[in-house]
Order: sequence, then C-alpha cells, then structure tokens
Amino acid sequence: MEHAGQASGALSSVAAEAVANPSRFGVFASFVVAGVAIASAISQGFSQPTIEVGEILVQPAAEMHVVAAAEVAAPEPVSPFESAEIVIRRNDTLDAIFRQMELSLADLAELRRLPDVRKSLDRLRPGDMIMLTHLNGELKSLTRTLSDTATLSVTRAPEGFDANVIENPLEIQETSLSGTIDSSLFATVNSAGGSDALAVTLADVFKYDIDFVNEVQPGDRFAVAYEQQWQDGDFVRDGEILAAEFVNKGKTFRAVRYIMPDGSAEYFTPDGQSVRKAFLRFPVAFGRVSSGFNLARRHPVLKTVRAHKGIDFAAPVGTPIKAAGTGRVSFRGVKGGYGNAVILTHSGSVTTLYGHMSRFVRGLKVGDKVKQGEVIGYVGMTGLATGPHLHYEYRVGGVHRNPAKVPLPKAESIPADLRADFEIKSAALLARLDTISAASQTRVALASP
Ligand SMILES: [Zn+2]
Repeated sequence: MEHAGQASGALSSVAAEAVANPSRFGVFASFVVAGVAIASAISQGFSQPTIEVGEILVQPAAEMHVVAAAEVAAPEPVSPFESAEIVIRRNDTLDAIFRQMELSLADLAELRRLPDVRKSLDRLRPGDMIMLTHLNGELKSLTRTLSDTATLSVTRAPEGFDANVIENPLEIQETSLSGTIDSSLFATVNSAGGSDALAVTLADVFKYDIDFVNEVQPGDRFAVAYEQQWQDGDFVRDGEILAAEFVNKGKTFRAVRYIMPDGSAEYFTPDGQSVRKAFLRFPVAFGRVSSGFNLARRHPVLKTVRAHKGIDFAAPVGTPIKAAGTGRVSFRGVKGGYGNAVILTHSGSVTTLYGHMSRFVRGLKVGDKVKQGEVIGYVGMTGLATGPHLHYEYRVGGVHRNPAKVPLPKAESIPADLRADFEIKSAALLARLDTISAASQTRVALASP
C-alpha cells in the first residue's frame, strides 16, 4: 500500500476514519476498504517506473541501463543510486536506512545536530516518504514531507547542511454537488464528481436521523455545499460540508455547519436544533444486527424462551465498543450471563449496558465520566454467548426499551446568545442549498421521459 502514492493515501485515511468512527458507515465500510484496494492496485499499475530494492524505492538514474543477467552475477558492489525515494515501513529508522544505502553516518549525525531538524526527521511514520540524493554515499540533499503544507528541505552547503521548512498552504474552494441515489450513496456521490470521503462526511452529518445502512433507497436524493482543498492548482481532497440536504423516503433533512465560540464545528437544522442526539443508535464498529429486541426469543444457549431485552451486534473480537451517550460508569465487571459488562448511567434516568466484552478499556472504573463515542471496551464472547458480539441494552427508569426504536433525547440546540449570528450565517447557506437542490431537481425533470 505504501507504494501506491497519494491517491491510496487519501483513501487509506478515509478507511482509517471509517475504522475510527464505525457507527457512521455500517455497510459502506466494505465499499471504502474495497475502494482502497482497487485504487491501490490501479495506482500501482500506473505509477512511475520504480524498482523496489528491499524497502527502498529507487528511481533509476538516467545513465542506468538494463542489466543483463551475466552482469548481475558479476561481483561489482558499486552503489548505482543517485536519487532515491524511500517509503518508510514499520520499525524503520533513519540509521538503518542510511546503513542499508551505504550513506555516510557522519552526514546523518550532522543533520541531526541542526536545530529543529532532528525532531522532524526522527519521527518516522509508516508510509512517510523521504527523497534524497547522494554521490558515493555522501548526502547531497534530503527532502521530507512533514504535512500537507510543509516540506523539510536539507541541502549540502559549503559549510555543513542548510535546512529549510517550505510552507505551501492549501487553498479552500467552495463548491456544490447533488444527486439522486440509484444504487448506493458512494456510487452516486462518485458519479456526481465527489469523493468517497465526501460521501462519508455526508452520512456522518445525518447519521442520527437516517439509517444509511438499511434505510437509504433508490430515489433518495441529496444536495451539498462543501469545501475542496487545492494546492498549486491540484485538487487535494474534499473538505468540510457547509450545508447539506438529504431526502430519505420523501422526508427532507437539512443541516448547516456553524462554528461555535470554542472553534468546534456543529451541525444544526435550519431552526437551530443540533442534528446530534444524546445517544448513538449503534455503539459498535461495523456491527451487524444479529439478534434484535424480542420479548419472546428462544435463547440460543439456554434453549428456553427468554426475552431478548437488547440488541446483539455481531463483530470481530476486539472491535471497539463506544459509549452510546455521555454518562458515568456505574458498573464494570463480570455480570452473570453478560460476562464482562459495563453499565453507564446517563441523564434522564437512562442506563445503557454493554455485555460479553473481551476486555474493558484500560483504566476504566466505576464512577468515571465517559463522553458519547468514547471507547469503553472491546467485543468478545464472555458469559453466555455463542459467538463474538456486543449485547446492548437501553433502559429508561429501569425499563428495557428497544435501542433501535426508542426516541432518542436531542442534543442541545443553538444557545440563545448565538441565535442571531446563527440566523444570519445559516440564511446564506440555506439559500445556496435551495439553489443547488432546485437545480438538481430541474435536471432530474429534464432527464425523465
Ligand atoms: Zn444479546
């Protein structure tokens, strides 16, 4: 994957995001991951001609020629490398790379003595790329991308090395997109010119109201005003969504982005309600509902009719389990057939229970405050379980409710002192959304026979 360059890098981060915030995606996740594999294969297929030598990708120098087999056998251990692109793998160190390439270790020591260089050089992450040029082991230059917008450039000067950090800021452009779902949200966003990341962000905005795994259907449509990041005239990635509309089964949902005084971004409905809810419907990554809420279920282990007062989410052992809502840990330990279990107490006399965990998150104890989405433990099959899954219960005043159906308490709406500012800013965004949405519907009407 490291060879695949920028395209797959961007997608990998989407996949990583999907893994980190699984409740957003459900079924999409497999598309994203498949997309990464495909993008990786494609970009490898079309990448620059590079020769892979161990862990080092080497750009053949102009004077290199195709080496015949007989010549390869000849014992001539001359380093032919002039310039090299090194893709960092797990556990790589600069020291090992310099040794492997027979570069001067004295040069490396000198580099490390430069102010600020050591820190940005030594922190290697798998996938990082370092470009260097050298002559017979003597380093001439080294370039390393530090971030999207900063590059470290070191060149040999008459006296020692010269180091500079070159800043290259991203430009933000606002744009819009709309579409009508035919097969999947991903396919529709892609065919309208948006990235997988944009589809993920869109689903994230509406995840509390719309079940993107089970309830999005052909004919649903969306309109979105969003930011794109560009650099030197090249598209880098899709950025934040400014305003969005999603029509699901004929019902219209709208959200606008608003920057709170602390700098965080929140999405609100046009009338100022937060789109968030106080609880997540799905507290586990990629959880497939394997057993629903059923008050007369035959228990798979006990073989007797016993109510199933929660929802089971099948997921691999070790999948992170998130706190469905902000609250306090009121139980953490072994609880009969639930095995390793955590109970959280929330406001409004709501409690949530998470069972069959393989383990708890390190340091979690009774009395701890946890935030919505915070990982509290990991999927397992402790207690009475036939396979790895999370057993999740939601109680109000001690009474079990169906977590899939129970009306979830809303998060806070826009604070009164921000209301006027919100009205002004959201009006402009909503007007744009009207235009985008109207244009897309005109297109649909024209396309229809
Ligand atoms: Zn269960």
